[in-house]
Amino acid sequence: MKQKEIVVSGIRSTGDLHLGNYLGAIHNYKQMQDDFNCYFFVADLHSLTTHPDPKDLKKSVFKVVAENIASGINPEKACLYVQSDVPEISELYLLLNMLAYKGELEKVPTFKDKVRQHPENVNAGLLTYPVLMAADILIHKATKVPVGKDQDQHLEMARNFANRFNHRYGECFPEPYPYRSSENTVRVMSLDGNGKMSKSENQNATIFLSDSDEEIMKKIKRAKTDSGPTEENMVKPDYIENLFSLMEVVSSPEVYHKFNADYNACTIRYGDFKNQLAEDMMAFIAPIRNKASELQKDEDKIHQILRRGAEQARENARKTIEEAKRLVGLYYK
Ligand code: ATP
Ligand code: MG
Repeated sequence: MKQKEIVVSGIRSTGDLHLGNYLGAIHNYKQMQDDFNCYFFVADLHSLTTHPDPKDLKKSVFKVVAENIASGINPEKACLYVQSDVPEISELYLLLNMLAYKGELEKVPTFKDKVRQHPENVNAGLLTYPVLMAADILIHKATKVPVGKDQDQHLEMARNFANRFNHRYGECFPEPYPYRSSENTVRVMSLDGNGKMSKSENQNATIFLSDSDEEIMKKIKRAKTDSGPTEENMVKPDYIENLFSLMEVVSSPEVYHKFNADYNACTIRYGDFKNQLAEDMMAFIAPIRNKASELQKDEDKIHQILRRGAEQARENARKTIEEAKRLVGLYYK
C-alpha cells in the first residue's frame, strides 16, 4: 500500500483564533485530514518569544485546541498535540541551529518586523524562530504544510535547512512545500486595511471565532470602505476585495453574486453590503463559538485528546531524531 503523504502545521497559542487562521490554515486542515497523515499542533514554545505570563499558558493552549476541534478538526483522524509535549522537536531544533546562519536569519522580514515593533525584546528565540519551525516540520518528515502566505519564506528556509543537513550528513529529510486548496483566501486582511488579521495585533479589526454577535456587527460596520466605485467593472481596492472574499466564504453564492454585480454596476450600497456580511458572518461563527466554549469546560476530554496526540507524535518523532543523531555522529555504542 502506498504510504500517505505527511502533513504538519501549527498555530501559536498567542490568543483567540480568528478568520485568518480559519481560512488560511484550519480550512485546509479539515480537507486534508481525510486524505493525508496529519500532525496538527499548538505551538506553545513559539509563543514564548514574547514572554507570556506562565499562569495564562494552559488556558491559551486549551483554547486553541478547543477552537480547532470546534472548527472541524477531528482528533480521531488527525494527530493533535502540543509542541512542548514532544521534546524531540527541541532536540532537532538544536541540531538544525548549527546549520542556520546569523546573516540569513536576520534578513527574514517577520524578524525585522518584530525588531521594529519590540526593540526592547530582540531575543535569540525570535531570531531562530524559522529554525524551530523547520524542526516542527522535519521531525515528522512532512512534505506538505498547510499555512497562510505569511509563512512562505519560513518554509523556504525549512527546505534550505533540510538540504543542508542532507548534504552534510546524508539523506534524512524530504523537502516540505506549502499547501493551499485555493489562492483567494490565503491572506485575510485586517478590516481597517492595515496588514493582516492577527491574534496579537490589529485586534479591533480582526474577527475572532469567539466574537459575540454584537462584536461581529460592530467590527464589520467599522470596516474600511470608501465612497464607492466610480466606473463600471472597476478593479476593487484590496480592502473591498477582502470584504468580498469574506462574503464568498460566509454567504450564499446568490448573495455574493448580487453584491458583486451591484459593485460592477456602481450601484452598491456599502451599508447594505456590510449588514448582509455581518448577518452571514454571525451565522457562520456562532456554532464554532458555542462548540468551542462547551469543549473548554471539559478539561478532562482535552487532556485525553492531547495525551493520545503526544504519544502518537512522539512515536514518529523518536524515529527521526535517532536517525538524525546517528547521521550527525552522536552515537557512541
Ligand atoms: P500571531 O499574531 O501571534 O503571530 P497569527 O494570527 O499570525 O498570530 P499564527 O499562529 O502565527 O497566527 O499562524 C497560524 C496559522 O494561521 C498559520 O498557518 C498562518 O499562516 C495562518 N494565518 C495567520 N494569520 C492569517 C491571515 N490573516 N490570513 C491567512 N492566514 C493566516
Ligand atoms: Mg503569526
